[in-house]
Amino acid sequence: SPPAAGSGMRGIVIEEHGGPEKLKYSTELPVPEMKDGEVLVKNEYIGVNYIDTYFRTGLYAAPLPLITGKEAAGTVASSSSPSFPTGTKVTYILDHSYAEYTAVPAAQLIPVPPGISTQTAAASLLQGLTALTFIRELPITPSEPKTVVVMAAAGGVGQWLVQILASEGHTVIAAAGSRTKVDLALALGAAHGINYSAEPLVDRIRELTKSHPLGGPDVMFDGVGKATFDGDLEVVARKGTLVIFGNASGAVPPVDLLRLAKKNTKVLRPTLFGYIATPEERQKYAKELWGLLEGKVKVSIHETYPMEEVRRAHEDLEGRKTMGKLVLQV
Ligand code: NDP
Repeated sequence: SPPAAGSGMRGIVIEEHGGPEKLKYSTELPVPEMKDGEVLVKNEYIGVNYIDTYFRTGLYAAPLPLITGKEAAGTVASSSSPSFPTGTKVTYILDHSYAEYTAVPAAQLIPVPPGISTQTAAASLLQGLTALTFIRELPITPSEPKTVVVMAAAGGVGQWLVQILASEGHTVIAAAGSRTKVDLALALGAAHGINYSAEPLVDRIRELTKSHPLGGPDVMFDGVGKATFDGDLEVVARKGTLVIFGNASGAVPPVDLLRLAKKNTKVLRPTLFGYIATPEERQKYAKELWGLLEGKVKVSIHETYPMEEVRRAHEDLEGRKTMGKLVLQV
């Protein structure tokens, strides 16, 4: 039977902002109360995302104490929703997932299809949907192959971007912080690799795209942010598109719009949440995501950490030691 609201559960709480040491494991967090329309999910696997570090440091604001975490997969423990009876395997993208139980509005739940484990679901949902929606919401289609740069190409989102883009015929230039990471991106289908810890990034992109009629890559996906943004603007093709979507190296400072006029550059700063805001959008993209796992995309888990070891997971992620997805096991 489900635990009573307010009784003790295991989870990770942030009482003050700071480094990974501020992630406190507790066995006495209150089981959340279910509001109208909510379902209590017993989380089995929790996806770790770079955004979790922003809430921990305070770069993104949320009231403290905070149970952070943006996604998990598990089973329904308590429910009055006919669509999601107790025992249903579900996954979701929502706050407060770093815990044994999370109360989730039924409308936010995504059923985990039969052939997919809750571990794979938690490893795929947020990063996979990020890559998928960011590609689908651009004017970029398999019928018109483009030259596309992916930064941090061996990371969680990066591996999804490389695999989807390459499998749809685009020429991917994968940039990453070590030879091993670059080699992995090449194995996933990238046409070219740049190790930006050792090679001059902008010069290498220029060299690889010098025969391009518009003089550079058509599209650049950049979750690294501050460290690479100026170079992106410098090297992108005329009429090209920059998709700037993260702050792994710090947030991009305010930009003078006149800098875009030089090459008629389009810049997007999207969030996944803005592309899966309605149940229809969530269902449409989730369906396509599960389909991708049947062939086009292999999701690779860097490590599955016991939830108690979340501090090490954040240290590894911010220390650029990881390739692929980090998952916590509850
Ligand atoms: P990753 O697995 O990609 O890990 C981050 C990677 O960024 C590192 O492995 C590292 O790869 C690279 N990096 C470059 N500079 C630094 C630095 N100074 N410190 C740390 N890492 C650095 O993480 P995720 O896949 O979870 O996220 C990737 C990016 O996408 C993040 O910026 C994240 O915030 C963003 N994101 C945005 C979303 C949105 O809705 N806008 C949704 C999901 C993710 P390397 O060594 O190869 O440089």
